[in-house]
Amino acid sequence: MTARLPIKPESQAFIERPPRMLIGADWTAASDGGLMNVYNPATGEVLCQTPAGTPADVDRAVRVARQTFEDSAWSRMAPRERQNLLWRFADLLERDADLIAELECLNNGKSAVMARLVDVQVCIDFLRYMAGWATKISGSVVTPSMSLMPPGSEYHSFIRREAVGVVGAIVAWNFPLILACWKLGPALATGCTIVLKPADETPLTALKLAELALEAGYPPGVFNVVTGAGPVAGAALACHPQVDKLTFTGSTVVGKQIGKAAMDNMTRVTLELGGKSPAIVLDDANLADAAAGVANGIFFNQGQVCCASSRLYVQRKVFDKVVADIAGIADGLKIGNGLDPSTQIGPLVSAKQQARVHGYIQLGREKGATIACGGEQFGPGYFVKPTVIVNIDQQNPLVQEEIFGPVLVAMPFDDIDEAIRLANDNPYGLGASIWSNNLAAVHRMVPRIKSGSVWVNCHTVLDPTLPFGGYKMSGIGREMGEAVIDYYTEQKTVVLRY
Ligand code: NAD
Ligand code: MN
Repeated sequence: MTARLPIKPESQAFIERPPRMLIGADWTAASDGGLMNVYNPATGEVLCQTPAGTPADVDRAVRVARQTFEDSAWSRMAPRERQNLLWRFADLLERDADLIAELECLNNGKSAVMARLVDVQVCIDFLRYMAGWATKISGSVVTPSMSLMPPGSEYHSFIRREAVGVVGAIVAWNFPLILACWKLGPALATGCTIVLKPADETPLTALKLAELALEAGYPPGVFNVVTGAGPVAGAALACHPQVDKLTFTGSTVVGKQIGKAAMDNMTRVTLELGGKSPAIVLDDANLADAAAGVANGIFFNQGQVCCASSRLYVQRKVFDKVVADIAGIADGLKIGNGLDPSTQIGPLVSAKQQARVHGYIQLGREKGATIACGGEQFGPGYFVKPTVIVNIDQQNPLVQEEIFGPVLVAMPFDDIDEAIRLANDNPYGLGASIWSNNLAAVHRMVPRIKSGSVWVNCHTVLDPTLPFGGYKMSGIGREMGEAVIDYYTEQKTVVLRY
């Protein structure tokens, strides 16, 4: 595990660069010269450093973004040109895909092979999807007919969609590149400008994205990246009065703070927050499919997925079989450095996250739950074994709270009403899956589940065309799909009397 694996010369060159972030055309240090360490989660070693952006840096970035939005080639750019730029941006991601995937692996711990197949590809596809939207954003024309129309007057009204303005984007570390692109794509398609604050832990691919945006031909100031600590740089962005819209992906705790800060300035805000997504397996399901799907849903990306299938409810007579199958899959997963192509489970992102996840497992043990498999942590690096926990009560913190690691809790149920009650008995509402071939049962269950996505015989199926977001404590607003355009535009009502 400790043996150092070779990396590409381009990756080495990237991490050896002097630590800089991008404000306008300026690759800059922090205003006070402050730096933050970036760690390699597979070894626990310092990989490189990035600027610890200050409130002054955030202020400068927002002002540059404001100026660029109000008066620049970008503010006058035709939709067709915005489309072409987004397409070129995606082409550059594709050109550098292997390098970007390796940087994501080095910085986050995830498998480089999977980062290429999933993370980078999702971004290429999504940016191209959003490129298509640039030319298809339209308003509407209506004919007012109020009772008290002045005689002889007629009215013609139209409703314009206008870019919302300066977007402040704050993202988490679990999918650094994807989360950034989910915000960049609609911002660039609609004509906004952006200040991105990547997660403290994972700034590298955000910086690479900024470099590629300049190469693609975006005018300086359209896309700015300020690296730094959440409570410093993130908080400064969240309360900046010149930001028109905030978009955040991360924990519900911080999401609430961002929402409150946004309201002080009436800043538009979308929040993509935590989850504790249930997978419900009925006894008629294809059980092998269900076990494989739920295992993938909870262990993919080391369980650091906002809509991970982290709560499993199985109809009683097939409970033992499904749990044994998932535990078998978990035990067979190969754990290691994400640079090794055979690795299926990498390290968690940080020592803090490892301690948090392992702390939950310990709490489960203390409260008398049974560890069906896994349960251990080890190092060097931040590893936690894929873990399945049974004999656990619905009110246990391990069932109610987001663990955000490779930890599945499983419980039996007797009938569909009980399954729905258990699935909904949680503060979150991001995703849910139903595993069954009973068409009537599935259709009866779908409307009763309180979550932004429901998957049937699959879990975590995301696509550029499908709006994604949460009910309840999982957030406000939607990303992707046609729906996302609403969140990056204002509607202006225009009334003409003639
Ligand atoms: P976090 O919410 O603290 O961090 C997310 C982003 O918010 C980062 O960029 C961070 O720098 C920034 N941030 C932190 N404090 C801020 C503040 N006061 N003002 C503005 N920005 C701030 O998440 P975390 O601490 O890295 O992870 C803790 C837990 O959150 C995880 O264990 C997991 O349960 C949950 N989480 C969920 C998701 C998700 O997608 N649902 C993603 C990451 C973390
Ligand atoms: Mn935090």
